[in-house]
Amino acid sequence: MATLPFGSQATAQSMVLLEDVAIVDVEAGTVTPGQSVLIEDGMILQVGADLTIPTGPLETFDSDAGYLIPGLWDSHVHIFSSPAEPATALPLYLINGVTGIRDMGALWPFEDQQALQTQIEAREVLGPRIVLSGAWVDGSPGSWPGMFLADTPGQAAEVVGQIASEGWDAVKAYSMLSEPTYRSLAEAAAEAGLPLVGHIPEQVTLATAIEVGQAGMEHFGRIPMACSTREAEMVEALSEAMARNADLDEVFGLMADRNGIILSSWDEALCESVLADMVDAALHVSPTLVVADFYIGNWPAPDAPRMRMIPAEVREAWGRPDFRLEAVADEVLELAEATIALDRQTFAMAHAAGVPILAASDASFANPYLFHGFSLLDELDIYVDAGLTPQEALYTATVAPPRFFGLPDQDGTITQGQRADMVLLEANPLADLATLRRPMAVVANGRLLDRVTLDAMEADLIARGE
Ligand SMILES: [Zn+2]
Repeated sequence: MATLPFGSQATAQSMVLLEDVAIVDVEAGTVTPGQSVLIEDGMILQVGADLTIPTGPLETFDSDAGYLIPGLWDSHVHIFSSPAEPATALPLYLINGVTGIRDMGALWPFEDQQALQTQIEAREVLGPRIVLSGAWVDGSPGSWPGMFLADTPGQAAEVVGQIASEGWDAVKAYSMLSEPTYRSLAEAAAEAGLPLVGHIPEQVTLATAIEVGQAGMEHFGRIPMACSTREAEMVEALSEAMARNADLDEVFGLMADRNGIILSSWDEALCESVLADMVDAALHVSPTLVVADFYIGNWPAPDAPRMRMIPAEVREAWGRPDFRLEAVADEVLELAEATIALDRQTFAMAHAAGVPILAASDASFANPYLFHGFSLLDELDIYVDAGLTPQEALYTATVAPPRFFGLPDQDGTITQGQRADMVLLEANPLADLATLRRPMAVVANGRLLDRVTLDAMEADLIARGE
Protein backbone atom coordinates (compact mmCIF):
# COMPACT_ATOMS: atom_id res chain seq x y z
CA MET A 1 0.00 0.00 0.00
CA ALA A 2 1.05 3.56 -0.65
CA THR A 3 2.67 5.56 2.09
CA LEU A 4 0.36 8.28 3.29
CA PRO A 5 1.16 11.70 4.66
CA PHE A 6 0.14 12.31 8.26
CA GLY A 7 -0.24 8.56 8.59
CA SER A 8 2.17 8.37 11.48
CA GLN A 9 0.70 11.13 13.59
CA ALA A 10 -0.05 10.16 17.15
CA THR A 11 -3.66 9.36 17.82
CA ALA A 12 -3.59 10.48 21.45
CA GLN A 13 -7.01 11.97 21.88
CA SER A 14 -8.01 14.99 23.83
CA MET A 15 -11.48 16.47 23.76
CA VAL A 16 -12.02 19.30 21.28
CA LEU A 17 -14.22 22.25 22.14
CA LEU A 18 -15.44 24.54 19.36
CA GLU A 19 -16.58 27.82 20.91
CA ASP A 20 -18.79 30.59 19.55
CA VAL A 21 -20.03 28.81 16.44
CA ALA A 22 -23.20 29.43 14.47
CA ILE A 23 -24.66 26.01 13.75
CA VAL A 24 -26.20 25.62 10.32
CA ASP A 25 -29.15 23.25 10.06
CA VAL A 26 -28.96 22.47 6.37
CA GLU A 27 -32.30 20.67 6.24
CA ALA A 28 -34.26 23.43 8.00
CA GLY A 29 -32.24 26.26 6.48
CA THR A 30 -31.69 27.86 9.90
CA VAL A 31 -28.64 29.19 11.75
CA THR A 32 -28.24 29.12 15.56
CA PRO A 33 -25.45 31.44 16.74
CA GLY A 34 -23.56 31.43 20.03
CA GLN A 35 -23.19 27.66 20.32
CA SER A 36 -20.40 25.39 21.51
CA VAL A 37 -19.67 21.86 20.33
CA LEU A 38 -17.74 19.34 22.40
CA ILE A 39 -16.09 16.46 20.55
CA GLU A 40 -14.49 13.31 21.88
CA ASP A 41 -13.33 10.11 20.19
CA GLY A 42 -14.63 11.21 16.82
CA MET A 43 -18.12 11.88 18.12
CA ILE A 44 -20.15 14.96 19.04
CA LEU A 45 -20.57 14.74 22.80
CA GLN A 46 -22.54 17.92 23.50
CA VAL A 47 -23.98 20.86 21.58
CA GLY A 48 -25.40 23.99 23.20
CA ALA A 49 -24.95 27.52 24.47
CA ASP A 50 -23.69 26.47 27.88
CA LEU A 51 -21.89 23.14 28.14
CA THR A 52 -20.68 21.19 31.13
CA ILE A 53 -17.12 20.24 30.24
CA PRO A 54 -15.81 17.02 31.83
CA THR A 55 -12.28 17.12 33.19
CA GLY A 56 -9.48 15.89 30.97
CA PRO A 57 -7.19 17.18 28.23
CA LEU A 58 -9.04 19.77 26.15
CA GLU A 59 -8.19 21.54 22.90
CA THR A 60 -10.24 24.73 22.58
CA PHE A 61 -10.92 26.56 19.32
CA ASP A 62 -12.69 29.91 19.40
CA SER A 63 -14.29 30.29 16.00
CA ASP A 64 -15.35 33.90 16.53
CA ALA A 65 -18.87 33.40 15.19
CA GLY A 66 -17.89 31.08 12.34
CA TYR A 67 -20.54 28.95 10.62
CA LEU A 68 -20.46 25.23 11.30
CA ILE A 69 -21.90 22.81 8.73
CA PRO A 70 -21.87 19.01 8.55
CA GLY A 71 -18.91 17.71 6.53
CA LEU A 72 -19.40 17.45 2.78
CA TRP A 73 -19.75 14.17 0.90
CA ASP A 74 -18.68 13.45 -2.67
CA SER A 75 -20.88 10.51 -3.63
CA HIS A 76 -18.97 9.41 -6.73
CA VAL A 77 -15.17 9.31 -6.80
CA HIS A 78 -12.33 6.94 -7.65
CA ILE A 79 -9.36 7.23 -5.30
CA PHE A 80 -7.82 3.84 -6.10
CA SER A 81 -7.19 4.22 -9.84
CA SER A 82 -3.42 4.28 -9.35
CA PRO A 83 -1.07 3.09 -6.56
CA ALA A 84 -0.23 6.48 -5.03
CA GLU A 85 -3.59 8.16 -5.55
CA PRO A 86 -4.91 8.17 -1.95
CA ALA A 87 -1.77 10.00 -0.74
CA THR A 88 -2.94 12.99 -2.79
CA ALA A 89 -6.69 12.42 -2.78
CA LEU A 90 -7.19 12.14 0.99
CA PRO A 91 -5.65 15.52 1.91
CA LEU A 92 -7.30 17.18 -1.10
CA TYR A 93 -10.70 16.11 0.17
CA LEU A 94 -10.08 17.40 3.69
CA ILE A 95 -8.65 20.71 2.45
CA ASN A 96 -11.93 21.21 0.60
CA GLY A 97 -14.13 20.27 3.56
CA VAL A 98 -15.06 16.89 2.08
CA THR A 99 -15.08 14.47 5.02
CA GLY A 100 -16.91 11.62 3.29
CA ILE A 101 -16.51 9.95 -0.09
CA ARG A 102 -18.12 7.02 -1.86
CA ASP A 103 -15.66 5.16 -4.05
CA MET A 104 -17.36 3.86 -7.18
CA GLY A 105 -14.72 1.68 -8.80
CA ALA A 106 -11.11 0.82 -8.11
CA LEU A 107 -8.02 -0.80 -9.52
CA TRP A 108 -6.68 -1.71 -6.07
CA PRO A 109 -7.37 -5.13 -4.53
CA PHE A 110 -10.44 -4.90 -2.30
CA GLU A 111 -8.50 -5.91 0.86
CA ASP A 112 -6.21 -2.91 0.36
CA GLN A 113 -9.18 -0.57 -0.05
CA GLN A 114 -10.68 -1.97 3.16
CA ALA A 115 -7.35 -1.67 4.98
CA LEU A 116 -7.15 2.05 4.20
CA GLN A 117 -10.79 2.52 5.20
CA THR A 118 -10.06 0.79 8.52
CA GLN A 119 -6.96 2.91 9.18
CA ILE A 120 -8.97 6.09 8.61
CA GLU A 121 -11.72 4.89 10.95
CA ALA A 122 -9.09 4.05 13.59
CA ARG A 123 -7.59 7.53 13.10
CA GLU A 124 -4.23 6.05 12.13
CA VAL A 125 -4.51 7.77 8.75
CA LEU A 126 -5.99 11.20 8.17
CA GLY A 127 -8.67 11.10 5.51
CA PRO A 128 -12.38 11.27 4.74
CA ARG A 129 -14.78 8.49 5.66
CA ILE A 130 -14.95 6.04 2.76
CA VAL A 131 -17.96 4.06 1.54
CA LEU A 132 -16.82 1.25 -0.76
CA SER A 133 -19.40 0.83 -3.52
CA GLY A 134 -17.08 0.12 -6.42
CA ALA A 135 -18.01 -3.51 -7.08
CA TRP A 136 -18.69 -2.78 -10.71
CA VAL A 137 -20.16 -5.50 -12.89
CA ASP A 138 -19.95 -5.23 -16.68
CA GLY A 139 -20.38 -7.40 -19.75
CA SER A 140 -17.09 -8.84 -21.02
CA PRO A 141 -14.48 -7.74 -21.85
CA GLY A 142 -15.29 -5.00 -19.30
CA SER A 143 -15.00 -1.24 -19.75
CA TRP A 144 -12.16 -1.04 -17.18
CA PRO A 145 -9.55 -3.58 -16.04
CA GLY A 146 -10.40 -5.71 -13.04
CA MET A 147 -14.18 -5.44 -13.21
CA PHE A 148 -16.53 -8.23 -12.23
CA LEU A 149 -17.84 -9.70 -15.50
CA ALA A 150 -21.24 -11.19 -16.24
CA ASP A 151 -22.59 -12.13 -19.66
CA THR A 152 -25.47 -14.35 -18.57
CA PRO A 153 -28.09 -14.23 -15.81
CA GLY A 154 -26.35 -17.18 -14.11
CA GLN A 155 -23.02 -15.38 -14.08
CA ALA A 156 -24.68 -12.26 -12.64
CA ALA A 157 -26.05 -14.26 -9.70
CA GLU A 158 -22.65 -15.85 -9.13
CA VAL A 159 -20.85 -12.50 -9.19
CA VAL A 160 -23.25 -10.99 -6.66
CA GLY A 161 -22.50 -13.90 -4.34
CA GLN A 162 -18.81 -13.06 -4.59
CA ILE A 163 -19.43 -9.33 -4.02
CA ALA A 164 -21.56 -10.05 -0.97
CA SER A 165 -19.00 -12.42 0.54
CA GLU A 166 -16.18 -9.90 0.04
CA GLY A 167 -18.08 -7.26 2.00
CA TRP A 168 -18.81 -4.46 -0.46
CA ASP A 169 -21.47 -1.85 0.39
CA ALA A 170 -23.34 -2.16 -2.91
CA VAL A 171 -23.42 -3.75 -6.35
CA LYS A 172 -22.60 -1.34 -9.17
CA ALA A 173 -24.12 -2.03 -12.57
CA TYR A 174 -22.07 -0.95 -15.57
CA SER A 175 -22.80 0.09 -19.13
CA MET A 176 -22.40 -3.03 -21.24
CA LEU A 177 -24.63 -5.48 -19.33
CA SER A 178 -27.38 -7.07 -21.40
CA GLU A 179 -30.93 -6.65 -20.16
CA PRO A 180 -31.44 -10.28 -18.99
CA THR A 181 -28.09 -10.21 -17.17
CA TYR A 182 -28.95 -6.86 -15.59
CA ARG A 183 -32.31 -8.13 -14.40
CA SER A 184 -30.65 -11.13 -12.78
CA LEU A 185 -28.05 -8.85 -11.19
CA ALA A 186 -30.82 -6.74 -9.65
CA GLU A 187 -32.62 -9.79 -8.34
CA ALA A 188 -29.47 -11.30 -6.84
CA ALA A 189 -28.48 -7.97 -5.24
CA ALA A 190 -31.91 -7.70 -3.62
CA GLU A 191 -31.61 -11.25 -2.30
CA ALA A 192 -28.16 -10.47 -0.90
CA GLY A 193 -29.51 -7.32 0.76
CA LEU A 194 -27.20 -5.06 -1.24
CA PRO A 195 -28.42 -1.90 -2.98
CA LEU A 196 -28.03 -1.86 -6.75
CA VAL A 197 -26.39 1.36 -7.89
CA GLY A 198 -24.38 2.46 -10.90
CA HIS A 199 -24.86 3.09 -14.57
CA ILE A 200 -28.10 2.29 -16.26
CA PRO A 201 -26.81 -0.17 -18.86
CA GLU A 202 -26.92 1.08 -22.43
CA GLN A 203 -29.29 -1.75 -23.43
CA VAL A 204 -31.80 -0.92 -20.68
CA THR A 205 -34.36 1.87 -20.38
CA LEU A 206 -34.72 4.06 -17.31
CA ALA A 207 -38.18 2.56 -16.76
CA THR A 208 -36.61 -0.91 -16.57
CA ALA A 209 -34.09 0.33 -14.00
CA ILE A 210 -36.99 1.62 -11.90
CA GLU A 211 -38.90 -1.64 -12.40
CA VAL A 212 -36.01 -3.79 -11.14
CA GLY A 213 -35.49 -1.53 -8.13
CA GLN A 214 -32.16 0.14 -8.88
CA ALA A 215 -31.55 2.39 -5.87
CA GLY A 216 -28.95 4.81 -7.18
CA MET A 217 -27.93 5.92 -10.66
CA GLU A 218 -24.61 7.45 -11.61
CA HIS A 219 -24.30 10.38 -14.01
CA PHE A 220 -27.17 12.35 -15.44
CA GLY A 221 -27.34 11.74 -19.19
CA ARG A 222 -29.79 8.88 -18.99
CA ILE A 223 -32.47 11.17 -17.57
CA PRO A 224 -32.68 13.56 -20.56
CA MET A 225 -32.52 10.40 -22.70
CA ALA A 226 -35.54 8.98 -20.86
CA CYS A 227 -37.27 12.31 -21.53
CA SER A 228 -36.84 11.64 -25.24
CA THR A 229 -39.74 10.07 -27.11
CA ARG A 230 -37.11 7.90 -28.82
CA GLU A 231 -35.41 6.35 -25.76
CA ALA A 232 -36.74 2.82 -26.39
CA GLU A 233 -35.73 3.03 -30.05
CA MET A 234 -32.16 4.07 -29.12
CA VAL A 235 -31.88 1.28 -26.54
CA GLU A 236 -33.24 -1.30 -29.01
CA ALA A 237 -30.86 -0.23 -31.78
CA LEU A 238 -27.93 -0.80 -29.47
CA SER A 239 -29.24 -4.15 -28.18
CA GLU A 240 -29.73 -5.31 -31.74
CA ALA A 241 -26.16 -4.31 -32.68
CA MET A 242 -24.73 -6.04 -29.60
CA ALA A 243 -26.78 -9.19 -30.28
CA ARG A 244 -25.22 -9.60 -33.71
CA ASN A 245 -21.72 -8.73 -32.42
CA ALA A 246 -21.49 -5.55 -34.47
CA ASP A 247 -18.03 -4.02 -34.46
CA LEU A 248 -17.13 -1.43 -31.84
CA ASP A 249 -17.16 1.47 -34.30
CA GLU A 250 -20.81 0.82 -35.01
CA VAL A 251 -21.64 0.47 -31.30
CA PHE A 252 -19.85 3.69 -30.35
CA GLY A 253 -21.41 5.39 -33.37
CA LEU A 254 -24.88 4.51 -32.12
CA MET A 255 -24.02 5.91 -28.70
CA ALA A 256 -22.52 9.09 -30.19
CA ASP A 257 -25.70 9.65 -32.22
CA ARG A 258 -27.77 9.77 -29.07
CA ASN A 259 -27.10 13.40 -28.10
CA GLY A 260 -28.48 14.72 -31.36
CA ILE A 261 -31.52 12.46 -31.16
CA ILE A 262 -32.23 13.49 -27.57
CA LEU A 263 -31.97 17.20 -28.42
CA SER A 264 -34.59 16.84 -31.14
CA SER A 265 -36.97 14.53 -29.29
CA TRP A 266 -36.84 15.69 -25.63
CA ASP A 267 -40.41 16.14 -24.44
CA GLU A 268 -41.36 18.18 -21.40
CA ALA A 269 -44.59 16.33 -20.52
CA LEU A 270 -42.86 12.96 -20.88
CA CYS A 271 -40.04 14.29 -18.73
CA GLU A 272 -42.39 15.29 -15.91
CA SER A 273 -43.85 11.80 -15.93
CA VAL A 274 -40.41 10.11 -15.93
CA LEU A 275 -39.28 12.31 -13.03
CA ALA A 276 -42.44 11.52 -11.06
CA ASP A 277 -41.71 7.80 -11.51
CA MET A 278 -38.16 8.36 -10.23
CA VAL A 279 -39.50 10.18 -7.17
CA ASP A 280 -41.98 7.37 -6.45
CA ALA A 281 -39.15 4.83 -6.72
CA ALA A 282 -36.77 6.99 -4.62
CA LEU A 283 -34.18 6.49 -7.35
CA HIS A 284 -31.22 8.59 -6.16
CA VAL A 285 -29.08 10.36 -8.75
CA SER A 286 -25.39 11.26 -8.55
CA PRO A 287 -25.34 13.80 -11.40
CA THR A 288 -21.59 14.43 -11.96
CA LEU A 289 -22.51 17.42 -14.16
CA VAL A 290 -18.97 18.79 -13.71
CA VAL A 291 -17.69 16.03 -16.02
CA ALA A 292 -18.97 18.07 -18.98
CA ASP A 293 -16.29 20.70 -18.29
CA PHE A 294 -13.70 18.31 -19.70
CA TYR A 295 -15.50 17.83 -22.98
CA ILE A 296 -15.89 21.53 -23.67
CA GLY A 297 -12.27 22.21 -22.75
CA ASN A 298 -13.05 24.10 -19.54
CA TRP A 299 -9.70 23.18 -17.99
CA PRO A 300 -7.75 25.04 -15.30
CA ALA A 301 -4.55 26.90 -16.18
CA PRO A 302 -1.40 24.76 -15.79
CA ASP A 303 -0.25 26.88 -12.81
CA ALA A 304 -3.63 26.92 -11.03
CA PRO A 305 -3.24 25.81 -7.37
CA ARG A 306 -5.34 22.70 -7.95
CA MET A 307 -3.05 21.66 -10.82
CA ARG A 308 0.03 22.18 -8.64
CA MET A 309 -1.44 19.98 -5.89
CA ILE A 310 -1.54 16.84 -8.02
CA PRO A 311 1.49 14.75 -9.02
CA ALA A 312 3.45 15.88 -12.09
CA GLU A 313 2.90 12.53 -13.84
CA VAL A 314 -0.88 12.91 -13.52
CA ARG A 315 -0.74 16.43 -15.03
CA GLU A 316 1.35 15.02 -17.90
CA ALA A 317 -1.08 12.17 -18.51
CA TRP A 318 -3.98 14.62 -18.58
CA GLY A 319 -2.15 16.73 -21.16
CA ARG A 320 -1.94 13.83 -23.58
CA PRO A 321 -4.73 13.35 -26.14
CA ASP A 322 -7.39 11.30 -24.46
CA PHE A 323 -9.23 8.37 -25.98
CA ARG A 324 -12.55 9.70 -24.71
CA LEU A 325 -11.99 13.00 -26.54
CA GLU A 326 -10.99 11.13 -29.68
CA ALA A 327 -14.15 9.06 -29.40
CA VAL A 328 -16.22 12.22 -29.53
CA ALA A 329 -17.02 13.06 -33.13
CA ASP A 330 -16.87 16.71 -34.26
CA GLU A 331 -20.61 16.92 -34.69
CA VAL A 332 -21.05 15.73 -31.11
CA LEU A 333 -18.67 18.42 -29.86
CA GLU A 334 -20.79 20.99 -31.65
CA LEU A 335 -23.79 19.60 -29.84
CA ALA A 336 -22.01 19.64 -26.50
CA GLU A 337 -23.14 23.06 -25.41
CA ALA A 338 -26.76 22.39 -26.33
CA THR A 339 -26.54 19.02 -24.58
CA ILE A 340 -25.13 20.61 -21.42
CA ALA A 341 -27.89 23.22 -21.43
CA LEU A 342 -30.54 20.50 -21.77
CA ASP A 343 -28.88 18.46 -19.01
CA ARG A 344 -29.02 21.44 -16.67
CA GLN A 345 -32.61 22.26 -17.56
CA THR A 346 -33.58 18.64 -16.92
CA PHE A 347 -31.54 18.66 -13.72
CA ALA A 348 -33.44 21.70 -12.40
CA MET A 349 -36.74 19.97 -13.28
CA ALA A 350 -35.61 16.79 -11.53
CA HIS A 351 -34.72 18.68 -8.37
CA ALA A 352 -37.97 20.62 -8.44
CA ALA A 353 -39.90 17.37 -8.89
CA GLY A 354 -38.24 15.93 -5.78
CA VAL A 355 -35.79 13.47 -7.31
CA PRO A 356 -33.23 12.75 -4.55
CA ILE A 357 -29.81 14.05 -5.55
CA LEU A 358 -26.38 13.06 -4.20
CA ALA A 359 -23.70 15.62 -5.09
CA ALA A 360 -20.93 13.87 -7.00
CA SER A 361 -17.95 14.73 -9.18
CA ASP A 362 -16.41 11.51 -10.64
CA ALA A 363 -13.01 12.86 -9.51
CA SER A 364 -10.11 10.51 -10.25
CA PHE A 365 -6.57 10.61 -11.58
CA ALA A 366 -8.06 8.55 -14.43
CA ASN A 367 -10.57 11.29 -15.31
CA PRO A 368 -8.76 14.29 -16.81
CA TYR A 369 -9.31 17.65 -15.11
CA LEU A 370 -11.59 16.27 -12.43
CA PHE A 371 -10.01 17.05 -9.06
CA HIS A 372 -10.45 15.33 -5.73
CA GLY A 373 -12.19 17.86 -3.50
CA PHE A 374 -12.24 20.89 -5.79
CA SER A 375 -14.54 19.30 -8.35
CA LEU A 376 -17.21 18.59 -5.72
CA LEU A 377 -17.33 22.32 -4.93
CA ASP A 378 -17.50 23.02 -8.69
CA GLU A 379 -20.40 20.58 -8.93
CA LEU A 380 -22.28 22.40 -6.16
CA ASP A 381 -21.74 25.70 -7.98
CA ILE A 382 -23.27 24.15 -11.10
CA TYR A 383 -26.35 23.18 -9.08
CA VAL A 384 -26.72 26.80 -7.96
CA ASP A 385 -26.22 28.02 -11.54
CA ALA A 386 -28.97 25.60 -12.58
CA GLY A 387 -31.36 27.22 -10.12
CA LEU A 388 -30.96 25.48 -6.76
CA THR A 389 -30.56 27.67 -3.68
CA PRO A 390 -27.26 27.31 -1.79
CA GLN A 391 -29.24 25.49 0.92
CA GLU A 392 -30.64 23.00 -1.59
CA ALA A 393 -27.21 22.43 -3.10
CA LEU A 394 -25.64 21.90 0.34
CA TYR A 395 -28.36 19.39 1.21
CA THR A 396 -27.21 17.16 -1.67
CA ALA A 397 -23.69 17.04 -0.18
CA THR A 398 -24.39 16.91 3.56
CA VAL A 399 -27.80 15.46 4.42
CA ALA A 400 -28.79 13.27 1.48
CA PRO A 401 -25.63 11.12 1.14
CA PRO A 402 -25.23 9.67 4.67
CA ARG A 403 -28.97 8.98 4.81
CA PHE A 404 -28.87 7.15 1.48
CA PHE A 405 -25.84 5.13 2.59
CA GLY A 406 -27.66 4.22 5.81
CA LEU A 407 -24.82 5.30 8.08
CA PRO A 408 -26.02 4.86 11.67
CA ASP A 409 -23.98 7.74 13.12
CA GLN A 410 -24.45 10.37 10.43
CA ASP A 411 -27.62 12.08 9.28
CA GLY A 412 -26.35 15.45 8.13
CA THR A 413 -27.06 17.22 11.41
CA ILE A 414 -24.75 18.66 14.06
CA THR A 415 -26.27 17.00 17.10
CA GLN A 416 -25.21 14.90 20.05
CA GLY A 417 -24.09 11.38 19.13
CA GLN A 418 -23.28 12.22 15.53
CA ARG A 419 -19.89 11.50 14.01
CA ALA A 420 -17.68 14.58 14.31
CA ASP A 421 -17.26 15.43 10.61
CA MET A 422 -17.80 19.16 10.18
CA VAL A 423 -16.59 22.26 8.37
CA LEU A 424 -16.21 25.67 9.96
CA LEU A 425 -16.71 28.59 7.58
CA GLU A 426 -16.17 32.33 7.75
CA ALA A 427 -19.48 33.30 6.15
CA ASN A 428 -23.00 31.91 5.99
CA PRO A 429 -23.04 29.24 3.25
CA LEU A 430 -26.83 29.49 3.01
CA ALA A 431 -26.25 32.93 1.48
CA ASP A 432 -23.33 32.02 -0.78
CA LEU A 433 -21.37 28.81 -1.29
CA ALA A 434 -18.17 30.76 -2.08
CA THR A 435 -17.16 30.50 1.57
CA LEU A 436 -16.70 26.72 1.10
CA ARG A 437 -13.55 27.46 -0.90
CA ARG A 438 -11.52 28.42 2.17
CA PRO A 439 -12.64 26.73 5.38
CA MET A 440 -11.59 28.22 8.71
CA ALA A 441 -11.20 24.67 10.02
CA VAL A 442 -12.25 21.12 9.21
CA VAL A 443 -13.12 18.43 11.74
CA ALA A 444 -12.53 14.94 10.34
CA ASN A 445 -13.44 11.96 12.50
CA GLY A 446 -13.04 14.19 15.54
CA ARG A 447 -9.66 15.61 14.58
CA LEU A 448 -9.47 19.40 14.30
CA LEU A 449 -7.57 20.75 11.30
CA ASP A 450 -7.26 24.51 11.68
CA ARG A 451 -6.31 26.90 8.89
CA VAL A 452 -2.59 26.62 9.70
CA THR A 453 -2.80 22.84 9.36
CA LEU A 454 -4.85 23.04 6.16
CA ASP A 455 -2.31 25.49 4.68
CA ALA A 456 0.50 23.10 5.62
CA MET A 457 -1.33 20.26 3.88
CA GLU A 458 -1.67 22.40 0.74
CA ALA A 459 2.02 23.35 0.85
CA ASP A 460 2.97 19.69 1.24
CA LEU A 461 0.90 18.71 -1.82
CA ILE A 462 2.44 21.52 -3.88
CA ALA A 463 5.96 20.48 -2.81
CA ARG A 464 5.21 16.89 -3.83
CA GLY A 465 3.69 18.03 -7.13
CA GLU A 466 6.82 19.86 -8.29
ZN1 LIG B 1 -16.94 7.14 -12.12
